Amino acid sequence: MTIAPLTIAVLPGDGIGMEITRPCVTLLQRVMEKIGRPALIENWLEAGAGAYTKTGQALPKETLEGCRAADAILLAAMGDPSVRYPDGTEIIPQIDLRFELELYAGIRPVRSVRGIKGPLADPRGDELDFVLVRESTEGLFASVGKGSRDEDQATDTQVVTRKGTTRVVDYAFRLAQQRKAQGRMGEVTSVDKANVFKSMAFWRDIFDEIAANYQDITPRYGYVDAVAMEMVRRPWIYDVMVTENMYGDILSDLAAGLIGGLGMAPSADIGDQHAVFQPCHGSAPDIAGSGKANPTAMFLSGAMMLDWLAVEKSDPLLAKGANMIVAAVDDAFADGTLVSTERGGEAGVDAITEAVGNALDALDADGNHPV
Ligand code: NAD
Repeated sequence: MTIAPLTIAVLPGDGIGMEITRPCVTLLQRVMEKIGRPALIENWLEAGAGAYTKTGQALPKETLEGCRAADAILLAAMGDPSVRYPDGTEIIPQIDLRFELELYAGIRPVRSVRGIKGPLADPRGDELDFVLVRESTEGLFASVGKGSRDEDQATDTQVVTRKGTTRVVDYAFRLAQQRKAQGRMGEVTSVDKANVFKSMAFWRDIFDEIAANYQDITPRYGYVDAVAMEMVRRPWIYDVMVTENMYGDILSDLAAGLIGGLGMAPSADIGDQHAVFQPCHGSAPDIAGSGKANPTAMFLSGAMMLDWLAVEKSDPLLAKGANMIVAAVDDAFADGTLVSTERGGEAGVDAITEAVGNALDALDADGNHPV
């Protein structure tokens, strides 16, 4: 049987985006070869602050069409603080894309990599494995491009709908079931501010309605301020967390800090028809062009893409490919000598790409370590 090649829309964006995208796509192509699948068809597309400066469009029509037509979308980072709309806000095509393609579930896995010491003194802080699910189409971000501003006042309104909350909370409970089947806790924590805001009390009521459908999963609750504290004090208590868009935006960066920095934190924005995979970080203009960027979050986002495609295309080989990337990352960092620049070391894009590539080469065709 001939297997159809997969088409990936590739959006390198701005800043360090281009530096980390090429190595990631090369790594994915090597994995395809290793698992005996046809090469990915790469559709490189323009979007971001650079595209806006050049053409006046941050997310050109052809790019959006290319994304819709692709099997999956791989995005690096977009934005440049010096490129802004007349109202003072930055161009944010990566967020526009979530709205356009209804990518409602922002999946932020937080997993410690052996060899990378987290910032917490407690050894349990080096063995984290939880997932933050961020609602990605509404909440405070519903106000993007719509808030008001005059001389004396500016407003941005938080919008929480039954549809938006139901689908993301349901996603979180299904994820907790999958994780429970793999031996994890089987809990979902609603991270909200239901003590203060009507929109958040509404969110929590819907959370409870959904929770009632999942008797095997334990629902838990936390106010976002207290959760921020607990994520520093004892983050190992969490399994799956689900939260509003803005809270998720902030907490996912906090979570990245627990596993070695933004350069280690992958993410996915998943909808019913489409999905975008991109690192949690931005375009890092402060280090763009210096070769200092850590491409690991991009590699792990590529692994998440293969995992998602494995389910979408009913192709377990792709899941094997995803596991290979994760194993190669783990092996590359395991002995603690590969230290990225964001953690005070010397390793940037080239050194980390080479180390992960060598670790991939050392795995056999099943993704195991040859004995
Ligand atoms: P940022 O994530 O780009 O950078 C924050 C800090 O982390 C910087 O010091 C940066 O050097 C460092 N960093 C980030 N990624 C790194 C990596 N892979 N390796 C090593 N160090 C890394 O956030 P910012 O500075 O607040 O924003 C910069 C631009 O990115 C802005 O224009 C912002 O709007 C945009 N942004 C885009 C996205 C996205 O595309 N999803 C997300 C966040 C910010």
